[in-house]
Amino acid sequence: MEKRDYYEVLGVSRNATEDEIKKAYRKLALKYHPDRNPGDKEAEEKFKEAAEAYEVLRDPEKRRLYDQFGHAGLQGTGFSGFQGFEDIFSSFSDIFEDFFSFGFGSGRRRSERGQPGHDLAYDLKITFEEAAFGTEKTVEIPTLVECDSCGGTGLEPGSREEICPTCRGHGQIFQTQGFFRISTTCNRCKGSGKIITSPCKECGGEGRLQRFRKVNIKIPAGVDTGTRLRLKGKGEAGYRGGPSGDLYVRILVEPHEFLEREGDNLYCRVPVSFVQAALGDSIEIPTLNGNRTLEIKPGTQSGDTYLFRGEGIPHLHGYGRGDLIVEILVKTPTNLTRRQKELLKEFAEIEATKSKKDSSIWSVFSKKKKGERQKRRAAG
Ligand SMILES: [Zn+2]
Ligand SMILES: [Zn+2]
Repeated sequence: MEKRDYYEVLGVSRNATEDEIKKAYRKLALKYHPDRNPGDKEAEEKFKEAAEAYEVLRDPEKRRLYDQFGHAGLQGTGFSGFQGFEDIFSSFSDIFEDFFSFGFGSGRRRSERGQPGHDLAYDLKITFEEAAFGTEKTVEIPTLVECDSCGGTGLEPGSREEICPTCRGHGQIFQTQGFFRISTTCNRCKGSGKIITSPCKECGGEGRLQRFRKVNIKIPAGVDTGTRLRLKGKGEAGYRGGPSGDLYVRILVEPHEFLEREGDNLYCRVPVSFVQAALGDSIEIPTLNGNRTLEIKPGTQSGDTYLFRGEGIPHLHGYGRGDLIVEILVKTPTNLTRRQKELLKEFAEIEATKSKKDSSIWSVFSKKKKGERQKRRAAG
């Protein structure tokens, strides 16, 4: 087939400016656009012919060769027309940017379209008991949530997404440079291949809005300060229906009035009088499961410990529980009455006599330091 003169194809004079050439091509490209002339072979030929003419005349070097040598002048340039529509659309993306495609094309997966939302971090304060036994909390977290109006699509209800005219829905722009075909992500649709011409009025096309999201947090038994819980998909909503980020809940446990925690073991210091320590007693001690009775053995020393197996914190990962360790603190009495002092002195005398019998060395020592010894004995 004889090739027509490029100027004639575009309908411009031989000394047309670059701008005139571009405008002429735009007009033809729109007229013979395949979307407007589906299945029309003649329109397809004209569309390709115009593209070829434009490709040559917009390039000063090719235009010079063409002006001088005609079609033959282009043979050494590696240019041989376009293979198909895709080549044309991607080569002249600047031209087709302003055109809109006419709403066909298969839908892509949502996740490819939208950027994912950010992860969020949230600090949650809970009581000592809640950490030990687990709990459930409902909190309101300020975040981006999916737009109700458009369901996250970013589309004004009733409107549709359209194929990105710049890349013809490929998401990529192909450029031919000599023998090379270079592809870059389409700037207009950010690689999604789709654009929105009527964005949702609620969210401005973002598909998400700043709101408070109610989140139900299940806290397992055994968490401690620093435990991090991951709630999948409870972070920021994605851009235009993209996947949501995750929510990371950081646990902060409030201290307990009596109980201290170390790992899954609990520690409790219980003050008792020296009389209780010496004679033994039955006392109530606080545990996670309410009060328990602790039998203090006669002769208990300050610092002695009692173990309550399995009365500690449940293991977070696995079965069983830590222990409760009760440490006895013997208190030395203060503000004694006269009668109490008398009784203690009497007690001390008896102690001294006992000691004399036990050891003569001790008795020598005890005479010197009688007062101090009495104090120590009484306390311990
Ligand atoms: Zn919306
Ligand atoms: Zn695009």
